[in-house]
Amino acid sequence: MKLVFATNNAHKLSEISAILGDEVEILSLADIGCFDDIAETSETLDGNALQKARYVHERYGMNVFADDTGLEVKALDGRPGVHTARYAFADRNDTEANTSKLLSELEGAEDRSARFRTVIALILDGREYLFEGVINGFITPERRGTDGFGYDPVFSPEEIGKTFAELGVEVKNGLSHRARAVHKLCDFLKENAAADK
Ligand code: IMP
Repeated sequence: MKLVFATNNAHKLSEISAILGDEVEILSLADIGCFDDIAETSETLDGNALQKARYVHERYGMNVFADDTGLEVKALDGRPGVHTARYAFADRNDTEANTSKLLSELEGAEDRSARFRTVIALILDGREYLFEGVINGFITPERRGTDGFGYDPVFSPEEIGKTFAELGVEVKNGLSHRARAVHKLCDFLKENAAADK
């Protein structure tokens, strides 16, 4: 079975291929000759994931899935949420500036709880499905650790006592929001394939 993952992020592609195994061949956008900058203009993670999946399905007619992730901070009423990548600057993803903005917005906050949430939208045989992965945790008062990317140095999962950046990529990928959503997608695809046999 062939399935397009509407991304060109090599890390995400290898992570999901490893989980899915040999039965599903994952194709990137580049693999199907799509070099468009696909819009993400929705105000929700579900909306953005669906927007990307529909874009590919409508033009290429292939089975496809797409993901979108947000960091939802309680004291900020769920922000940055759908704007997580472009939190500091509306036109670009600047990790250092994003993290600094988050730390300064939370200065003095008592409640530092937050969660990462990933939504995956799948279009399979013309039907749409959504899968969600969540990890609860806290925003630390300062950066800790050097691994990972994005907000990893300031996000500490509940009951772990270390940031994602201190845990290292392998441990993080075992428990992350994205891994949880990806596992739900994989379970669904495996059940679906078994039912087709
Ligand atoms: P995307 O939807 O996967 O591109 O994620 C949007 C933004 O959320 C990224 O640009 C990062 O800033 C942030 N982000 C997503 N996943 C993670 C993560 O696992 N660790 C830290 N930051 C993340």
